[in-house]
Amino acid sequence: MTVTGELQTYPAELYRLLKKQGYHWVGRHSATKKCKWLHESLVHNRSCYKEKFYGIRSHRCLQMSPAVLNCMTYCIHCWRAMPEDIGLSWENIFHGGWDEPEKIVDGLVHEHRRILSGYKAQVLAGKVDEAKYREALNPNQVAVSLSGEPTLYPKLADLIRMFRERDCTVFLVTSGVLPKALEALSDLSAEPTRLYVSLTAPNKEAYLKLNRPIQPDLWSSLLKSLDLLGKFKCSSVIRITALEDVNMGSKDVAQFAELLTRSGCREVEVKGYMHVGFSTTRLTDRNMPLFSDVKEFSEELGDAAGYRLKAESAESRVTLLSK
Ligand code: SF4
Repeated sequence: MTVTGELQTYPAELYRLLKKQGYHWVGRHSATKKCKWLHESLVHNRSCYKEKFYGIRSHRCLQMSPAVLNCMTYCIHCWRAMPEDIGLSWENIFHGGWDEPEKIVDGLVHEHRRILSGYKAQVLAGKVDEAKYREALNPNQVAVSLSGEPTLYPKLADLIRMFRERDCTVFLVTSGVLPKALEALSDLSAEPTRLYVSLTAPNKEAYLKLNRPIQPDLWSSLLKSLDLLGKFKCSSVIRITALEDVNMGSKDVAQFAELLTRSGCREVEVKGYMHVGFSTTRLTDRNMPLFSDVKEFSEELGDAAGYRLKAESAESRVTLLSK
């Protein structure tokens, strides 16, 4: 059975699963979900590492996707529900009827405020700072990273532009499989504030095993996207997920370094794999590196590719390398 109409066109079981996981749907293919760090910031005054690294404010961040579940890779380390987790394939998910960006932006802000309305009682009880709560109602940071491949949304440039017109910073995370869509962002002056390309595999063979693309030639598409990074004026970042016993060996370091050099990206984030969510069915907790190992791997990578360690967060097992 498929849910259709004003809401969206996903298989009903997937729709229910995502709703249960806290997704708030907007139109047919977009959604927002409260980030754990928004909650932590409001209730416990703790923030995500990006607040420390880049100065964004976790309580003002809206996490969203314009292409929920429309992934072109099925990465083994992904903690989110994938169609295959409930026996569905790409064909069951991808539809192609796209909503207008304005409707998505308005709908996201509306849903974001609905999510936050749950904190009113805590504001009244003095457990959440009222001024901070009011700030949170007006997001000024958008993380386009929740689920799916955002560059599949054909009006992404307009969507980014609309967020930026509303004085929001925009962090876009892509798997880099659609280089033409990325190129369009650069050409159309619709650059995000930070552009992340995710990288888990240092070579094609590993890519097929770790990222499980829907077509094998997506590795060459990813390479084309890496080649485009130097064209962007915004901060271009390669984000490597480090998996113990999988992609952290000395040969991996050398091959990753070649890819970084080739791309000319300004920064590199190395994030240790976390054994949570649906990834626990594909990997074990032994694949989760200690922060000390993430840091050592980062330093070796920095030395090999000409980047220096700029910031680190042991709690989130992440480092930032910069040119
Ligand atoms: S930047 Fe990412 S981790 Fe930080 S609050 Fe936003 S969605 Fe959450």
